[in-house]
Amino acid sequence: MTNDVESTRPESRELSRRSLLKAGVALTGAAVATSATTAVARADDTQDPTLRSHYDVIVVGAGMAGVTAARELRLKGKRVLLLEARNRVGGRTWTDTWNGHMIERGGTWVDRLQPHVWRELNRYKLPIMADAGPTRAFMPVIGGFEELDPSVAYVRQKELFTKFFDRSTEVFPEPFKPLANRELAAEFDVFSLRDRLDQMALPPEDEILLTSWTSLYGGTSERGGLTLIQQWWALSGGTFEGFHGVNTYRPQLGTVSILNAMLAESKPVLKLNSPVKSVVQDAYKVTVTTRSGAAFTAPEVIVATPVNVWKTISFSPALPAAHVEATTTGVGVPHEKKLWIDLSNPTDRFVAEAPEGMGYPLCFMGRFNDGQPVVAFSVDSTFDTTDGAAVERAVQRVIPGATMRDYVATNWHVDPFSLGAGAYRRPNQLVRLHEKLQAPHGRVKFAGADIANGWNGYIDGAIEDGLRVAGSPTLSGPAAAAASAEERIFVPKVNRALYRGLGIR
Ligand SMILES: Cc1cc2nc3c(=O)[nH]c(=O)nc-3n(C[C@H](O)[C@H](O)[C@H](O)COP(=O)(O)OP(=O)(O)OC[C@H]3O[C@@H](n4cnc5c(N)ncnc54)[C@H](O)[C@@H]3O)c2cc1C
Repeated sequence: MTNDVESTRPESRELSRRSLLKAGVALTGAAVATSATTAVARADDTQDPTLRSHYDVIVVGAGMAGVTAARELRLKGKRVLLLEARNRVGGRTWTDTWNGHMIERGGTWVDRLQPHVWRELNRYKLPIMADAGPTRAFMPVIGGFEELDPSVAYVRQKELFTKFFDRSTEVFPEPFKPLANRELAAEFDVFSLRDRLDQMALPPEDEILLTSWTSLYGGTSERGGLTLIQQWWALSGGTFEGFHGVNTYRPQLGTVSILNAMLAESKPVLKLNSPVKSVVQDAYKVTVTTRSGAAFTAPEVIVATPVNVWKTISFSPALPAAHVEATTTGVGVPHEKKLWIDLSNPTDRFVAEAPEGMGYPLCFMGRFNDGQPVVAFSVDSTFDTTDGAAVERAVQRVIPGATMRDYVATNWHVDPFSLGAGAYRRPNQLVRLHEKLQAPHGRVKFAGADIANGWNGYIDGAIEDGLRVAGSPTLSGPAAAAASAEERIFVPKVNRALYRGLGIR
């Protein structure tokens, strides 16, 4: 058995080049092979000893937000340096291979309700696939689980979710503007997910149908604020089908194909293995220094790292109080682990949801495509994913008799360049902090899914926020010939197979 908890130690340049080549060429396929190769070549150029030290803009962090911002600024003719701590781009998205399978260790699913990422998929004509969906569902009941046909498994959950989200579209009448109804948002922002569950006073057999999700999204139901999941519901059109349906499609060539295409188009100077240690502003410029001591300057800097990571970078002048509060209390979900598990039994397509607080380390797992490993999530702080026997026991707690051949786990919480998984705000973080976190700090701007307006905590939010920050007045300039002229709206020929399987139209 393997347990490959993510290693984020910057690796040698040679290795990083090989990894990128592998990701770019092996995973992206013919459609983007040229682009990927170009992106790799550019990344390699950055090892040039004549690497300049002054740029128009420095972007810290080559996740979806940082790469989007870098692309936009390059297309405006800016000289952009993109500094990335790891030996790969993508951050909390990570397309990898394991036991012959392409796996996503982080963000995966995208949807046409998420316009920013969908636009990128169209722009680069990247293929999208729909998961086939489960044929069996293991749903929690008092004292265990019952196996149901997916077409009936979600009938009660749909009713409960709809009640849970009562008034959400009123709180978020314009879901891409989270404070459009500030007064009502303030009223709801004080509540945690747990508060909402308590307020509903559901019988236990109903409540356990919701807590797999409230714990997975919030980290725990106590930790997670109510308003973010309400906003996601509003962004999903205020329906159960929309809300769950955003977990149906994925980029067929991996999330990395989006990044490779952006980098190939815009060719920023990309420097991998370059964790930034400090960001120091004076009246004229910002100096960004990496842990190895390399210093670069620019009139403006975009910090596109996770909010949880800001506290590990030395800022001068010091970060404003709101930023300090956000990075100290944390926005990214703590203790989240994503696992890929090779089960010899069962081998069919299934979904399983486990309730919170009843000793189930895995809150959600499923096999959504034939012949693929099972994907599973845990937010249990005591679950040791380095212990293979514990992982197998965790699966068996939900599916007695399950047998495991192998697994791989990514622990986003211990990863020093994430310090948590996707964003999920705590109570009070929307109204008190959101706008302040988007505000520039002198010559330094912040970007990322963690502070996005719309799909905050999603790939779409990261791209949206990269666009927002690159469009800031001080960064705007003449746009280069719009590559988007070639864009056309791409409607995939696949259907929402998962939801067909669930009997939901
Ligand atoms: C397990 C998991 C499952 C998810 N599932 C989905 C999903 O299905 N669909 C979806 O839309 N979203 C999903 N998400 C969320 C989505 O992946 C993120 O919201 C999004 O990728 C964040 O992008 P970002 O650019 O804001 O931040 P990041 O991706 O975190 O990028 C920040 C970058 O900054 C770099 N960095 C950090 N510190 C430094 C430093 N000191 N110096 C230089 N660089 C630094 C990091 O290495 C990273 O590359 C998931 C996330 C996780 C973890």
